[in-house]
Amino acid sequence: MNRVFNFSAGPSMLPLQVLEKAQEELVNYRNSGMSVMELSHRSNLFTEIITEAEQLLRELMAIPDNYNVLFIQGGASQQFAMVPMNLLGNSGKADYVNTGSWSKKAIKEAKKFGEIRVIASSEDDNFTYIPAIDKSMIDPDADYVHITTNNTIEGTTYNEIPDTGDVPLVADMSSNILSEQIDVSKFGLIYAGAQKNIGPAGLTVVIIREDLIGRALDTCPTMLDYKTHSESGSLYNTPPTYGVYVAKLVFEWLKEIGGLKEMESINRKKAQILYDALEESHMFRSPVRKDSRSLMNIPFVSDSDELNAAFVKEAKAKGLETLKGHRSVGGMRASIYNAMPVEGVEALVTFMRDFENKHN
Ligand code: PMP
Repeated sequence: MNRVFNFSAGPSMLPLQVLEKAQEELVNYRNSGMSVMELSHRSNLFTEIITEAEQLLRELMAIPDNYNVLFIQGGASQQFAMVPMNLLGNSGKADYVNTGSWSKKAIKEAKKFGEIRVIASSEDDNFTYIPAIDKSMIDPDADYVHITTNNTIEGTTYNEIPDTGDVPLVADMSSNILSEQIDVSKFGLIYAGAQKNIGPAGLTVVIIREDLIGRALDTCPTMLDYKTHSESGSLYNTPPTYGVYVAKLVFEWLKEIGGLKEMESINRKKAQILYDALEESHMFRSPVRKDSRSLMNIPFVSDSDELNAAFVKEAKAKGLETLKGHRSVGGMRASIYNAMPVEGVEALVTFMRDFENKHN
């Protein structure tokens, strides 16, 4: 079997065990004579799948009882609109932190619905750090504060979740959900596109505190109202059934390896191996400030565009796939989500050293 180490930012690697289980059950799920893709979303078998997926996610993230878990569609990008449409019902004001391309898109979209203030930004230094957030910066009247906990393109992450007091904190956690232990009770709402740490693209997970449901603007379309999905158990219309099923398999895999405590320790180890190699290297460096470095997305650059291009090409020939950096940062980017094994990062680091020796 020719599996590669895939460093794509998303869709990205899934655990082999999950793919094999899905393959085993693909044409005949639990002796039903049907594939999960062919099951009615109202059938008992699918009800079991979606119920178990939610239970497992609750267990893994220790989600308190006063939070709802929603499995919906539209990607994280749809949340850029759903969040303001649902939460700007009181003062019509929200505070946003601008830490990169995805934050900017969230801000742009929210501005269509209310009075949006950018309370901190790292744009002055090409988003290479996470700005400090102090409670005094937050408008106590704001309906919510929005952050992007991990910036997929720029490779930055919050080392500490800002304290927003009584103002609900909303987080785009698309690229670091399930990568480490977090205290869900610090957030009013968490959203994430599935295609990095959860499962296949097409599924979006929303974790929302109950008191934030039912506040949508009058003009909010039914499908974009969290209440619609909450009241129906994510079954108002046909959910992305196969995505929910694969997500359940991923949650089972995470539970089996020891949950998020163990996953976090593996992720810290993987990131350390790569950051140490960058520290030692005379050819490559991380553009990101040390106190803001992501465990999931690690950009690195050399001083030459030719070397960068040669690196990506030669790496691919060695089974190290999709290492080209995002065009706004340049160079390379290694996305090392949960499913990337330690061996993948070791193989990358070995290749980096060989490349550096060869091109010296
Ligand atoms: N936010 C972040 C942090 C992301 O990384 C991405 C996708 N890479 C998005 C939002 C957009 O997600 P989607 O493609 O699911 O709309």
